[in-house]
Amino acid sequence: MKIIFLGTSGGLPSATRNTTALALQSNIADEKWSLFDCGDGTTYQIARIEWTLDKLDSIFITHLHADHFFGILMLLYRKDMYRECCDIMLYAPKGVKEFIESAMEITNKTFMNFKLTMVEIEEGSEMEVRDMRVEVLSLKHRIPSYAYHIETKDKRVIISGDNEEPSVLKEYLPNLDLLVHESTFKEVDYEGRESSMHSTAKLLGEVAGRYGVANLIATHFSVRYDAEDMREIYKEIESNYRNPLFLANDLDEFLLESYEDRASTLTLTS
Ligand SMILES: [Zn+2]
Ligand SMILES: [Zn+2]
Repeated sequence: MKIIFLGTSGGLPSATRNTTALALQSNIADEKWSLFDCGDGTTYQIARIEWTLDKLDSIFITHLHADHFFGILMLLYRKDMYRECCDIMLYAPKGVKEFIESAMEITNKTFMNFKLTMVEIEEGSEMEVRDMRVEVLSLKHRIPSYAYHIETKDKRVIISGDNEEPSVLKEYLPNLDLLVHESTFKEVDYEGRESSMHSTAKLLGEVAGRYGVANLIATHFSVRYDAEDMREIYKEIESNYRNPLFLANDLDEFLLESYEDRASTLTLTS
């Protein structure tokens, strides 16, 4: 499995981090890929990697905050410019379908080169995409927010939306091959910001450590953070979590490999 981070900021884009999006290839022999969240600017970020929009066959949106789905119109419009295109399944909370349909109506647009199927998700929704069995899990955030639990022949991965309480996923965390989870704030900065309903680095580390997650990638960092803050974020997570840990940067590419006789490995490949 390959994962490329297209955006790793929380809320707003910065000079180095775009808003949230993640590209995933479940089977690296297959060129088809999926997108998880689609913040503004995602189409530009995709232009910077080798994977192309004509091979994108599925989009999963975690929740309806602007930084997680405002890029979807440009992405669909751009995809339509490819002549030979695979169709798209779009899984998203209620509202995205209406958002896209009204934009298409206002701009008098129909997609000529692919079929778009939009499915509204809720807690417990299940779907099969290529070799992935995907289940929708509920999180704790200001609006309904979801995680996608992905199972393939030999791996289990969770791509999580915004969430103030990582332990809501505890049933799925033991021996999870990879957890991708937000870590918006350092503990010291969260005081007074509790109403934003995000996770701190400390809390994420505690929960991932307690429940035995095999590999962890933290993302969705406050745009105010500089390199020193990021080192502190790392330390906060690491103080409770001893397995492989990465803080995602835009365009980081990871390879997740599994074996029969030992824990799966996660490697930063570029
Ligand atoms: Zn967010
Ligand atoms: Zn949010």
